[in-house]
Amino acid sequence: MMNHIKIFFTLLIGVVFSVNVYAQKPEDTEDWSRKPEVVTPSKYAKTPSDAIVLYGGKTDADKWEHENGDALKWKTAKAMTVVAKTGGIYSKQAFGDVQLHIEWRTPKKVEGKGQGRGNSGVFLMGKYEVQILDSYNNETYYNGQAASIYKQHIPLVNACKAPGKWQTYDIFFTAPKFNADQSLKTPAYITVIQNGILVQNHVELKGPTEYVGQPQYKYHADKLPIHLQDHNNPTSFRNIWIREL
Ligand code: MG
Repeated sequence: MMNHIKIFFTLLIGVVFSVNVYAQKPEDTEDWSRKPEVVTPSKYAKTPSDAIVLYGGKTDADKWEHENGDALKWKTAKAMTVVAKTGGIYSKQAFGDVQLHIEWRTPKKVEGKGQGRGNSGVFLMGKYEVQILDSYNNETYYNGQAASIYKQHIPLVNACKAPGKWQTYDIFFTAPKFNADQSLKTPAYITVIQNGILVQNHVELKGPTEYVGQPQYKYHADKLPIHLQDHNNPTSFRNIWIREL
């Protein structure tokens, strides 16, 4: 008799389980809410079809200006190169959350050391710096070397090429968001790939880049220009494109 009861319950559980499985359909978990836009990929480091080109050559020089609104005083050709003491440059267009591709090259002729060698920087929203530096056999404080989030995050590895070689940054940036009372809602996050190697993995920014003292968020607009730094070294840039996210 006990055996019969056991068999009965085993069958019952089997039936209930089967019914439950059949009640759920594969379609139930299919998400058709957002059709991903078709984007034409290209050879690595070439501009995808939906990107905004910020510098593809001399004719894009008018997409940038100095802080006071002056036209570019940097050398512009196929690449653009910092002219020391002319000041940093700002994209005329403002951006928030972005994917940014930028190629950079520190001078082949090695001069200076530490922070004085090929120093520049990409500032997202003009405030949050991904350091550019010749960090090939050139030691400095680790949260100030190439691919550091300056004075905030040491890169995972040193993926630098030799001086005079073109290098790439692919930067994925989530802008900080602010509440209506201008207090911080969510901080900024950044991921950086240097020369195809992950160097910053979704790190949280503590605030805008500070040379001295601790960073602290201050309310700012949703979109602000990209800034490239003049740190007195003739660092070059080319093939800069951006996708708004
Ligand atoms: Mg810098």
